[in-house]
Amino acid sequence: MSNFFSGGLRVSPEMARIVARPGFLSVKVADRGFEPCIPMAIESGTAPLLNGTETPFLDGYTTLVVLGSQRIEALEGQRLRHLECLRYLISKGAPVDSEDIVGHTALFHATAFRSPNVELARALIEAGANVNHRNRYGEISLLPACMGKNLDSIELLLEHGADLDIAEADGLTTRSFFVSCGPEVAEVVSKWIRKRAGETALMENKMCRVCGKQDKALNQCSRCKSVRYCSAPCQRQDWSTHKKDCVPFSNETTVTLKPFYLNNASTFPTATLLRNLSGIPAESPTNSAAAAVPKSVGQSSKDLIIKVQVPYNLAAMSAAASSQGDLMVYNKKRDFACSIRRVDAPDAYDRISQAVKTKGVGGAKGYFAAVLESKDKLVVKVSELLAPQPW
Ligand SMILES: [Zn+2]
Ligand SMILES: [Zn+2]
Repeated sequence: MSNFFSGGLRVSPEMARIVARPGFLSVKVADRGFEPCIPMAIESGTAPLLNGTETPFLDGYTTLVVLGSQRIEALEGQRLRHLECLRYLISKGAPVDSEDIVGHTALFHATAFRSPNVELARALIEAGANVNHRNRYGEISLLPACMGKNLDSIELLLEHGADLDIAEADGLTTRSFFVSCGPEVAEVVSKWIRKRAGETALMENKMCRVCGKQDKALNQCSRCKSVRYCSAPCQRQDWSTHKKDCVPFSNETTVTLKPFYLNNASTFPTATLLRNLSGIPAESPTNSAAAAVPKSVGQSSKDLIIKVQVPYNLAAMSAAASSQGDLMVYNKKRDFACSIRRVDAPDAYDRISQAVKTKGVGGAKGYFAAVLESKDKLVVKVSELLAPQPW
């Protein structure tokens, strides 16, 4: 009864018998055969040592369970039991942080790469897996999780203490890199940076500040436009607390900017908007210049949450150079989108770009409460930034 070798993978005698059957394998037969294999092998003493590895990649057994969960789909009516299997193996002594050939542990495989499995990752962490384990490149799993935009993984790793400042071999840290992983990643990571600093931000969550209601239309405090309530009673109840940090729109707290509208900007993706801002013509110029001006403007002013972005290429340059570039401004729906040119209002431009650079996400973008008073007059409260939004 010798072990069956294939690419270094050891196969138990029972699995070998199933594989050796003539004809095609029914998943049901294979499944019935494979599932009880592991406990049977371990209990009868025929299993390999659980602190060993398989394949030329030196995968440990906890890693193999994660890899299996990422490659096998459940058939109808079938329940895959990778979580139970993982817990069982760990209870029998399989190490949680076994390293493969490039230093990846099971937690790396469960969080950092394609098809992350947060359920298994959580079980590994609960069993003591090191969230700050470094692979042969010096990376911890948080860095590739950010690159892959694995939002649930990022959340889990940060919840369990993943370190934003561990540099990989070439000096890259998650803190220096996450902003370029896109707005969803930036939102999650900056939320945790604030949380660790004990800060809460304005407009952090789209919910009533008092009762937490999310399912009904919310109204902003009309004075600061930076907190939300579901109802007048909730707002009244909060006022004695909120009045201390309710910063009203005033000459001191706002700047007035003159929007410069792009042709049909609302229908263009960010890349095209950025090209426009860099002076590179869009592929199809149109004549609908008013497309990014909200329709309701004209009758009355409009409250907005805006994102102000320093173009990435300029953000990387010196403060002096970036102060010359146009700022890109838009709201979530993109029914308002414009750029801000320094030439139209230099002082206002400098104040808002300074706020973005010193307090914004990665010094490249910031979210503000604003009022579009008319097509040509955007009043932005620069004295405080809102929490990074997921757009
Ligand atoms: Zn409420
Ligand atoms: Zn207020």
